[in-house]
Amino acid sequence: MTKRHPSEATYCSYLWQHACVRSGLQLQPCCRFVIDSKDSLPRLHQNFDNITKTINSEFQQDIRAKALRGDIIDGCEKCRRTEQKGGFSLRNLANREFPRQGDEGLLSQPEDIRYLEIFTGSLCNLKCLTCGPDLSTTWQSEFHSLGWSFNKTESVDADYSRLISQTPNLRQIKFVGGEPFLSRSHDQILDAIPGPMAEKMKLVYYTNATIWPNAKVLGQWKRFARVELWLSIDGLGSVNDYVRFPSRWSDVLANMTKYFEFASENPVLKLGVNCTVSIYNVFSVRKLEEWMIQFRSHYSPDIFHMFHLNPLILPAHMDIQNMPEGLKSEVDLDLNSEQQRNVMDHMRRREANHQLLPLLVDFTKATDRHRKQNVCDVIPEIASIF
Ligand code: SF4
Repeated sequence: MTKRHPSEATYCSYLWQHACVRSGLQLQPCCRFVIDSKDSLPRLHQNFDNITKTINSEFQQDIRAKALRGDIIDGCEKCRRTEQKGGFSLRNLANREFPRQGDEGLLSQPEDIRYLEIFTGSLCNLKCLTCGPDLSTTWQSEFHSLGWSFNKTESVDADYSRLISQTPNLRQIKFVGGEPFLSRSHDQILDAIPGPMAEKMKLVYYTNATIWPNAKVLGQWKRFARVELWLSIDGLGSVNDYVRFPSRWSDVLANMTKYFEFASENPVLKLGVNCTVSIYNVFSVRKLEEWMIQFRSHYSPDIFHMFHLNPLILPAHMDIQNMPEGLKSEVDLDLNSEQQRNVMDHMRRREANHQLLPLLVDFTKATDRHRKQNVCDVIPEIASIF
């Protein structure tokens, strides 16, 4: 049997070949990396003239050293937990996409970067219950109205063309928001990518499906090797509108139809649906998946790459693990669906933490009052909590 090198347990090619640029131009290894304080992250300049220095900061070198030694990396906790549960982590994906070269040291160069994740700012027209003011300007206004405090996310206008020109071997960009189709930085980044680079590049988006991209963006997509669009949908009809307030199902449906039609004519576009599963919508996911199967059956299977149910972990009071045990037993999931089986496994993994329930009740009642709605009307299955 081949002996497993100890560092394989923590080695992640993203630590060399991937960069995640947050709204304040702070740099972290990837979007799943957990940090206690954003202040500890190295920061890029607006014209990106310090990129080599930033990707080789003490912070980055320290993580790479740990990865090579096989030491536990605290920030990579989410990947570690997924692997411990037998799942396929982002680290596993990273190492499959960009296999280990074997000669990695502590340093990396801009030319080594193959994959960028860019936070395009917090401008967003929705204030989804599972999101917050750091990722949505609409949430920021509601926090103000409710008298709740929050740390304002710094938004920096940067010259992304300078970032693109220094990373010639880039093969993938993922846009993280806010809502990317409301972001000027997003349009500027697409403009900065030269034709030969675009031909080999994949773009990945997470969109709230209420904003239709402008004609220029739709035209730009045709220059790329692949455009992968994840539509964030957190329930069927009124449940989606409740969780993703103030979204309207009729708009979501109209845009979904347009996306499927655009993808039918433009094979570059591939669609997926991502549903963040929380206490609010766990009773709706079975209906959502059934509806999705029906909806996509009208189109070629090539268009659609995945329906993904992603159990929420934070905020913990919305995590289905912390739902009262009696309610857990009423959740009706289709165990023939791999995605719904994952949701069931996640929900049953731990006993509920009952201390978190008052937090959920207070938060929901406060937002309901402000939004002039009532959780019990929309999601009667969880009315007993309130
Ligand atoms: S191990 Fe996971 S969290 Fe850590 S850098 Fe890799 S992908 Fe990101």
